Amino acid sequence: MPKTPDEIIRAEIRAMNAYHVPDSRGMVKLDAMENPYRLPEALRAAIARRIEQAAFNRYPDPAAGELKAHLRQALGVPGVMDLVLGNGSDELIQMLVLAAARPGAVVLGVEPSFVMFRMITMCAGARYIGIDLREDYSLDAERTLAAIEQHRPALVFLAYPNNPTGNLFDEGHVTRIIEAAPGMVVLDEAYHAFAGRSFMDSIARHSNLLVMRTVSKLGLAGIRLGALVGPGAWLKELDKVRLPYNINTLTQLAACEVLQHDAVLTEQAAAIKLERGRLLRELGRLPGVTAYPSDANFILFQTSKAERVFDGLKKRGVLIKSLHGSHRLLENCLRVTVGTPDENSAFLTALAQTVTP
Ligand code: PMP
Repeated sequence: MPKTPDEIIRAEIRAMNAYHVPDSRGMVKLDAMENPYRLPEALRAAIARRIEQAAFNRYPDPAAGELKAHLRQALGVPGVMDLVLGNGSDELIQMLVLAAARPGAVVLGVEPSFVMFRMITMCAGARYIGIDLREDYSLDAERTLAAIEQHRPALVFLAYPNNPTGNLFDEGHVTRIIEAAPGMVVLDEAYHAFAGRSFMDSIARHSNLLVMRTVSKLGLAGIRLGALVGPGAWLKELDKVRLPYNINTLTQLAACEVLQHDAVLTEQAAAIKLERGRLLRELGRLPGVTAYPSDANFILFQTSKAERVFDGLKKRGVLIKSLHGSHRLLENCLRVTVGTPDENSAFLTALAQTVTP
C-alpha cells in the first residue's frame, strides 16, 4: 500500500493554509494592489508586433540580457551592482530563502508584514521569527535589534513601504538593522513607485544589503517579473538557485517594450497617488472609520465589525481585503487598493452604506 499524504507531506506544510485568492469576477477589484489602468493601445500594439516575431519554439534568453539592460535604466540600478530576475518577487523571496536555509537557519521579519516571507520560510524548512511592530506600525527597533542579536538570522526581510500597513519605516532604524544583521537584509520595495523613498542608493554602503523591486504594482502584475539588486558576491550564489529560463519569452518581450516607455507607468502611478489622497480624506470623514496614512497604492483602515463591513462591500460588488484575525495589530482592519476615480467612488459609496446601516 502506498503511504497517505499525511505520512509523506511534512507536518508544517499540512498545517499551512494555501495562499487564498478569492473569485473576483464581476467585482470592483480593489483587493490585490494592482494598477487599475491598462497599457495604452499603442503600447499594446507594439507588444503584439513583438509577439508576432517571437521564436516560441526556442527557450527564452536564459540571461534575459536585453531585459536586464532596460531594468537597470528604469530602476536606477547603481552601475557596480548586479541583478537577478524572478517570476514575480515572490520567486526571488523563494530563491533567497532556499539559498540561506541551512539546517537551523533563521529568517527574521516584522509582523504584520507580507505573508510570503513567513510562508516561504516554512516551506523551505527554515525557522521564521516575526517581531511585532509597535501599535502605530512603526518598527520596534530595540526589540528587532535584540532579536537579531539573539537569533543571528541568515536573512532579514523588511517591506519598505510595508504591506499591509502602508507606511515607510524610519530610515535610521532600518540602517541600524542593516548594520547589526549578520546575514543578508532584503528591503522589499514592491511599492516604491508610490513612496519615492528607496534604499537603492545605499546598497554600495552596506555589503549585506539587497533591494527587491517588482513591476506588479506598476501596472504589469500579469507578466510576473521581479528584480533583486545587490552586490555580485551574493547574487552569483542566488543565481544558482534560480531555475533555468525562469523569465519566459512573453514576459521578456512585453517588459522590454513597456520599460522603454515607462513614463506611461510613472504617470499612472502619479494618478494613483492623487486618488490615494482623496480616498484618505474621504475615509477620514466617515464616522467610525480610522484610516492610516499610506506611502503605497493601498490604504489600511479600521472600522467596528470589519467582517460585516467586508461582507457588506462584497454584497455591493466591491472586493477588498480583510485582515481581521490575521494579527493582533490588525483587529477590525481592512485594506483597500487605490483604483480609478470611479472605482474608488463606488467603494466609498458602498462603504458609507455599510458602516452606517
Ligand atoms: N512584496 C510585497 C511587500 C508584496 O506586497 C507583494 C505582493 N502583494 C509582493 C512582494 C509580491 O509581488 P510579486 O507580484 O512581484 O510576486
